[in-house]
Amino acid sequence: MLLIKNADLYSPEAGGRCDLLLGGGKILRMEPDIRISRKYAEVIDARNLKVVPGFIDAHVHIMGGGGEGGFATRTPGLPLTDAILGGVTTVVGCLGTDGYTRTMAGLLAKAKGLEEEGLSTYVYSGSYGLPLRTLLPTLEEDLLFIDKVIGAGEVALSDHRSSQPGFEAFAQVVAMARRGGMLSGKAGIVNVHLGDGERGLDFLRRVVAETELPPTQMLPTHINRNPRLFEEGIAYAKAGGFVDFTTSTLASYLAEGEIPCGRALRLMLEAGVDPGQITFTSDGQGSLPDWDHSGRLQAISVGRVTSLFAAVRQAVQEEGLSLETALRVITSNPARILKLKAKGRLAPGLDADLVLLEPKNLEVRTVIAKGRLLMKAGKVLAKGMFE
Ligand code: ZN
Repeated sequence: MLLIKNADLYSPEAGGRCDLLLGGGKILRMEPDIRISRKYAEVIDARNLKVVPGFIDAHVHIMGGGGEGGFATRTPGLPLTDAILGGVTTVVGCLGTDGYTRTMAGLLAKAKGLEEEGLSTYVYSGSYGLPLRTLLPTLEEDLLFIDKVIGAGEVALSDHRSSQPGFEAFAQVVAMARRGGMLSGKAGIVNVHLGDGERGLDFLRRVVAETELPPTQMLPTHINRNPRLFEEGIAYAKAGGFVDFTTSTLASYLAEGEIPCGRALRLMLEAGVDPGQITFTSDGQGSLPDWDHSGRLQAISVGRVTSLFAAVRQAVQEEGLSLETALRVITSNPARILKLKAKGRLAPGLDADLVLLEPKNLEVRTVIAKGRLLMKAGKVLAKGMFE
C-alpha cells in the first residue's frame, strides 16, 4: 500500500489538506489524518504538494501517425516516459490519415503494451476515412466485444485529407456509435477531426438538427486551430456540444491564428460555455508539418503528450484561471464524456491514478498509475520495454 500524507487535494475540486491510502490499484481511503504502520504502507510526505487526478489524454497516436510526406515521415509510437513526464495515466489511442500501414490490430496491440507498462489505455475504432475500417465486421461489434474500444475515430471532416463522406454516411457512423455504446455500456462517442475547411462543424450541427442523435455522441477536436472554427465551436458548445482543443502546436501555427489552449479555455468560459463541455487532448505522436508560404514542407515534428498539462498550467499561470477549473479539461470532463467511471476524479473506490504537483510552478513531481509509482520526487522510476 501507499500512504500519501498531508497533500493539498484537488479532486479536481479544491478540498484542502488530505491523506490518501492506496492499495490494490484503488484509492482505499481519503481522510484528513490516516495513521497506519510503516510495515504495511510506503509513506510519501506530500506536505506543500498538490494532489490531482492522473491526466487523461483522449487523443494520442500511440502507435505513431503522420506519413503525409511519404514513408519517412511516419511518426514513432508513444514512449512510456513521455506519458509519465506529462502526468498522463490514461490514454485513448487513435489512427489518423493512415489507416492502411497502421491498422486496428496494431493500435490495439500498442494499447495493450502500454497497459502492461503501467498506463490505462483505450482506443477509438477506425481512422480518418469512411467507411470505417473496424477490427470486427461492424463498429457495434468492436464496442461490444473489444474491451478497449470506447468509440470511433478520428473521422476527418472539413479537411482535404478527409474521405469527403456525404452527410448520411457521417450520420450513420454516429448512429452506429450510439447503438454500440448503448449495448456495451460505453460512451460510443465519435471523435471528429476538423480541418481548416469552410464547412467547419456543419455536419455535426446537422446531426443535431436533422436526426434524433444527441450532440453528446460526438467529440470534435482541433477546435482551436483557427479563429473561424473557434467561433463556431463557441456556438456549438453553447448549444450542448462538446469541444476539444489540441495542445501540441508549433510557433508557426500560433502565428497563423491557432489559439493557444489556455487562452481558448478562458475565452470559451467568458463566452458563457459550460466548463463541463470542454476537453484538451495532446494529439501526441501525430505529425506537425511546417509549411512555408508557398506550401512547401519545411520541417516536420512530432506532437508530445507532455504538452497536455503544459497547456493547463498555462491556463492557470497566464490566463488567470483557477487550478480546479483548468484541471477539469484533462480529468473529470474526459472521464465523464468518455464514461471512464473509475477515472478523472479522486475518491475512495476509484482507480489510484494521481499526480503530485509542486505548488508554485505546478511542475509534475510524482506520478502514480493504478497504485504504482511511475515517478517519485522528479525521478522517473518506470521505463518502457525498449527505453
Ligand atoms: Zn486530427
